[in-house]
Amino acid sequence: MILKELSEAVGVSGKEDAVRKVVLNAIEKHADNIRIDPLGSVTAVKKGKGKNPLRVMLAAHMDEIGFIVTGVDGDGLIRFNAIGGIDDRILPGLRVRVGDDLLPGAIIWTPIHQNREQNVVKLANLRIDIGASNKDEANGKVKPGDRIVFDSQYRELSPKVVRGKAFDDRVGCSLLIDVLQGGPYPVDVLAAFTVQEEIGLRGALVAAQTLKPDIAFALEGTTAHDVPNPLADPDDERGVNPTTKMGSGPALTFMDRSMITDPRLVRFLSATADKHKIPYQFKTQLGGGTDAGSIHTSLGGVPSAVISMPCRYIHSPTAMLNLDDYQNTLKLIQTALKEITADVLKR
Ligand SMILES: [Zn+2]
Repeated sequence: MILKELSEAVGVSGKEDAVRKVVLNAIEKHADNIRIDPLGSVTAVKKGKGKNPLRVMLAAHMDEIGFIVTGVDGDGLIRFNAIGGIDDRILPGLRVRVGDDLLPGAIIWTPIHQNREQNVVKLANLRIDIGASNKDEANGKVKPGDRIVFDSQYRELSPKVVRGKAFDDRVGCSLLIDVLQGGPYPVDVLAAFTVQEEIGLRGALVAAQTLKPDIAFALEGTTAHDVPNPLADPDDERGVNPTTKMGSGPALTFMDRSMITDPRLVRFLSATADKHKIPYQFKTQLGGGTDAGSIHTSLGGVPSAVISMPCRYIHSPTAMLNLDDYQNTLKLIQTALKEITADVLKR
């Protein structure tokens, strides 16, 4: 499984080069027409064996959330902004890597001895400490525009559960690589490893225009907060809405912030899962967006849906994934690619 390599590769939005290298290497012998488009997304085609095959796009984004250097203060501490959706509250004290050379650093925090009353964290008050003693020393090592990424290694926590950074959406990239390495399929599989999803679903729009699909599926890592909410009142018995649950199979979306998924495709996916006894679930919250949000309004309109793997602690250095969910998602996609026909879209 290539997920470890993908998770540890650094690819904050707009600078996905290291991830792209892993992807290109992995798909080289398994697809045709492999191209890097002007924005940096990788597109590839795996020709179908059927007659007049349906063109099915599968999109997974290569970029990850992170930060960007905006300047250096007189004391050598680095100012930065977020790229993508990040909860400021998890940042103080975290280890990070800065710039192309992945310089080690830490996000500052005031020790608890001085800090008992403070309970709001604002990114504007945070800095990154790379151990420089003054502005000149820091300026010799980093420059505005450098990307900053969580310093996090991939780990197997148990035979079933793995932990790492950037599972959103390296789990999708890994799955798409597995799809291309498998097959053949009766349909044309149009693969898009996209850029700049986390800052507005941008690469996918261009990739769809290149690939001209009949149908599209976004492959994602999505939120599973099936754990206690640390901010909730522990005596409140109403419980939390977990969005998805780890271990309950691939998650299907009927609506999110970026789109209403095509009901014909959602019906097809759930019927396929039922028929083949593949566990699945529906996302129970409608937040977030995916590349499908861009793809479905591209060209003359592309019927699109989303298939996600539940990940706990997403958009943090320590996302978790259940490998059974991964295998069941792979099974669902590969089965869907074998069974989907144009009839699915009949009104
Ligand atoms: Zn994502």
